[in-house]
Amino acid sequence: MNDSTSARDGMITDMEKRGIRDARILDAMRHIPREKFVDPQLAAQAYCDMPLPIGEGQTISQPLMTAMMIEAACIEPPHRVLEIGAGSGYSAAVLGRLAQRVWTIERLARLARFAGARIAELGLANVTVLRGDGTAGWAPAAPFNAILVTASGPSVPAPLRQQLAIGGRLIIPVGPDGNSQRLLRITRNNRDDFAEEDLGAVAFVPLIGEHGFAEPAGHRQR
Ligand code: SAM
Repeated sequence: MNDSTSARDGMITDMEKRGIRDARILDAMRHIPREKFVDPQLAAQAYCDMPLPIGEGQTISQPLMTAMMIEAACIEPPHRVLEIGAGSGYSAAVLGRLAQRVWTIERLARLARFAGARIAELGLANVTVLRGDGTAGWAPAAPFNAILVTASGPSVPAPLRQQLAIGGRLIIPVGPDGNSQRLLRITRNNRDDFAEEDLGAVAFVPLIGEHGFAEPAGHRQR
């Protein structure tokens, strides 16, 4: 067993102890090499339970948070899943092992390119990385059984609610600023009825876009 495999096994054991029960999620995370989704200089920290910088002021989420969000989304093998905030591509790669089809959207072109390249290297042909403003969702592939948003907005973007299948779940952090975000699970019971659950306090980077926060002044997207 090499160092990264034993570190990965350690991360999985830790996540089990901290409450992740779904064996499919643990197995998917056991198969995705997280060290490939971070800068080579940070590879030694890839299996520590913390977010890590991925450039452009963004982060790869803490593995426990990734697992908790996926568990909350109740993903089954036939599902079609949309992720907003591809970042490194890691969570999309994990989702690719759990669902039939995954689309992930990233607003920053350089991150989207890297995420796409890593996912292609792993041969995950059911995962598509798109570049754009994910607050508008991805209408051509809707409806989705699950939508996961890995950045925090001021409110729940209306297009994401509308692109949920009946019975589908939207997992999204929402809050006015970085200090008071709540992770929400929104379930679409029928066309006009959505149930909302509060899954607790979280801390994510901002969701920037038409139905999110405004882009910071003087900050040009590349
Ligand atoms: N899922 C990622 C991973 O596994 O590495 C973590 C993503 S990081 C916490 C959040 C990402 O959301 C950032 O890369 C950021 O650029 C992106 N983001 C923010 N607003 C966005 C938007 N409107 N559409 C798409 N991506 C967005």
